[in-house]
Amino acid sequence: MNLQSVLERIEKARQNEEIKLVAVSKTVTSLEVAKLYNAGCRAFGENKVQALKQKQEELSHLPIEWHFIGRLQTNKINQLIDLNPALVHSCDSLELAIQIDKRLKIKNKTLDILLQINSAKEASKAGVTPELALKTYEDILKTCPNLNLKGVMSIGAHTDDTDTIQKSFETTRGVYEQTKPYGAIYCSMGMSSDFELAIKCGANIVRLGSILFK
Ligand SMILES: *Cc1c(COP(=O)(O)O)cnc(C)c1O
Repeated sequence: MNLQSVLERIEKARQNEEIKLVAVSKTVTSLEVAKLYNAGCRAFGENKVQALKQKQEELSHLPIEWHFIGRLQTNKINQLIDLNPALVHSCDSLELAIQIDKRLKIKNKTLDILLQINSAKEASKAGVTPELALKTYEDILKTCPNLNLKGVMSIGAHTDDTDTIQKSFETTRGVYEQTKPYGAIYCSMGMSSDFELAIKCGANIVRLGSILFK
């Protein structure tokens, strides 16, 4: 387990702002989660609704802050809402936002979410294009009263070229700055291979899996 060294690297990369660490536990068992919790980590992220449910059940004795970071199928929305995640990072369209909002209304609940941006415009990735991001953000604010939009999320460009990765983070940061007047407070970007660069580009949530669990 590597938590202390990862926290030191985060501390070194950050400037003024606090950085929130979400440990991505999708590849490990609940036992590994409990170990990292006992080492001091409080927020964990899963990318499948079923796996989130299972880990919540197995770890119900621990007051873990659970995040959802994966693609959300329409037929899993109700189940996800019932799991009361602290933050859903992966709302990737106005249509999905409307579907989530509709179900929240019926349950008389609200949900904190981020809008996912496909900053490098990769076909393999979910999210709205940078050009449509601000408009989509405004549309969600207008049409989805049961959603609390808290900012943006993105996955860095899938390449070894640091400049390209940095550009993708800067693009997301640009959208984040535009959404701050609407109350955005989170910029979720950076994974094990690129989190220090993401922090330097303005991330205040990093989502780390392999580096913590190897
Ligand atoms: C798996 C995953 C992560 C963590 O990736 P690592 O490279 O293991 O740190 C972060 N964000 C999302 C959306 C993921 O699916």
